[in-house]
Amino acid sequence: MSSTKTLWAEHALTSGGWASDVRVEVDQAGSIVSVRAGQPAVGEQTGLLLPAMANLHSHAFQRAMAGMTETRGSDPEDSFWSWRKLMYRFLNHLGPEECEAIAAFGQVEMLEAGYTSVGEFHYLHHQPNGTHYTNRAEMSERMIAAANQSGIGLTLLPVLYEQGGCDGRELAGGQKRFGNTMDEYAQLFEQASSSVSNTANANIGIAPHSLRAVSRSSLTVAHELAAGKPFHIHIAEQQAEVDELLASYGARPVEWLFDNHSVDSTWCLIHATHMTADETKQLAVSGAVAGLCPITESNLGDGIFDGKRYLDHSGKWGIGTDSNVRISLSEELRTLEYSQRLRDMRRAVYATTSQSNGRLLFESALVGGAQALQRHTGCIAVGYKADLVALDLHSTSFLGVNQDGWLDAWLFAHDDNLVVDVWANGEHVVANSRHVRREQIESQYRATMKKLTAHL
Ligand SMILES: [Zn+2]
Repeated sequence: MSSTKTLWAEHALTSGGWASDVRVEVDQAGSIVSVRAGQPAVGEQTGLLLPAMANLHSHAFQRAMAGMTETRGSDPEDSFWSWRKLMYRFLNHLGPEECEAIAAFGQVEMLEAGYTSVGEFHYLHHQPNGTHYTNRAEMSERMIAAANQSGIGLTLLPVLYEQGGCDGRELAGGQKRFGNTMDEYAQLFEQASSSVSNTANANIGIAPHSLRAVSRSSLTVAHELAAGKPFHIHIAEQQAEVDELLASYGARPVEWLFDNHSVDSTWCLIHATHMTADETKQLAVSGAVAGLCPITESNLGDGIFDGKRYLDHSGKWGIGTDSNVRISLSEELRTLEYSQRLRDMRRAVYATTSQSNGRLLFESALVGGAQALQRHTGCIAVGYKADLVALDLHSTSFLGVNQDGWLDAWLFAHDDNLVVDVWANGEHVVANSRHVRREQIESQYRATMKKLTAHL
C-alpha cells in the first residue's frame, strides 16, 4: 500500500505561479513531497487548488457572542457598553468544557472558510472566581483538545496578563480570570509547552497581552522566555490605548516598543491600527508581521490600518479572525482593501501593475500568516505542509475569468461557499464544502449555547 496521498487539480497556484493538470503528492506526515504540472488526472481530483491560509489571531470563546452586541446603553460616549457587558456575563459561565466546544466549532468554521491553522491568543486561564484550576494549563489543554477535534493546525499563544493598566493597577472583576504573575505564567507556559510537544500539527508561542497589561520588566522576561518562538502582542488597537501610553510612558505604543526592544521577524503586532507615518515605516522595515483583523476592527470601530504606506515599505502582514464575529477568509481580505478605498477614495489599492488585488492580497497574507505562526505553510511546493484549499472551478462565479481573476472573483465578487475541499496537514477535513466531523462538533456547540444562553 502506498504511504503517500495523491491530489490532482485542473489548475493550481504553485510556488512557480499558475500551473495546469497539477499532481501533488503528500506523505504520511502531511508534507508535500512532489508537485508536477501536466500530469494525467489521478487520486483525489479538484478544480482550483490554492495554498490554505493561516489565521494568525483568534480569541475562540468570543465566537459564542457573535452578533449579540449590536445594542448600546445610555452613555453616548460608551459604544463598547453592550460588548463589554456581554463578554463578562459570558465569562461567568464559561468552563473548560464550554470553551473546548466553542473553540472546536469555531475551528470547523475556519476550516470551511479556507483557514488551516490558527494562532489562538488564549487569555482565559482561570476559574470564574479567578483562582487557577488544579492544572494551571487546563484551559490551554482544552484549546489543544479542540484542535484535535477539528484537525486545524494550532499555534497556541498563552497570554501574559498582569495588570489593569500602565499604572500597574490590579486586575479587577472579570479580568481576574486572565491574570498571572510572571512566575505563574512561566509555570503555565512550561506545562502548555509540554502538552503542545505531544500534539501533532501544534506549536507554541508567547503573547504578552498588550503594553498596558504587562509591566515593562515582564515584557523583557517574556521575550527571553519565548527564545525565538512566535511573540505576539496587541499593540495599538484604539486611540485610548495610544493616549494611555503617551501619558504613562511618554511615547506612542509602536514608538515605545521600537525604542525599547529589538523587534524582529519573530514578532507579530496585532492591530497596528494607530501608527504615525514613521511608526508605519519602522514596523515595515523591521521584518515583523502586522496582524490585521479587518472584520473585527470594523465591528469594533477601531480605525483603519495604513495599508498603502506599509506596502510601499514592503511590510509583512497577515490576517486574523480575532473576535470571530464573522469567520470569512474572503471577507477579511475584501474588508482590508475596501477600508483603504473608503479612506483614500481610490480603487485597487493593493494591486500592482503585475498582480491583481486578489493575487497580491492572498499571497501576502499567506506569507505573513505563516511567518507569524512559524509554520511551514502557505505555499504549494515540496517541503511545505499540505495545507490546501480547493475552490469550485466550475461555479458560475468563475465564468469569464481565469488565473489571478479567479482570486479576484472569489475575494471581491463571491464568498467562502466556493470552498469545496480543504486539507489540513494532509488530512482531508472539508469535503463537499462541509467539515467531515461537523455533525458531532456542531451538536456539542448547540448544547453548549443552550446552556449558556439560559444563564444570560
Ligand atoms: Zn485580539
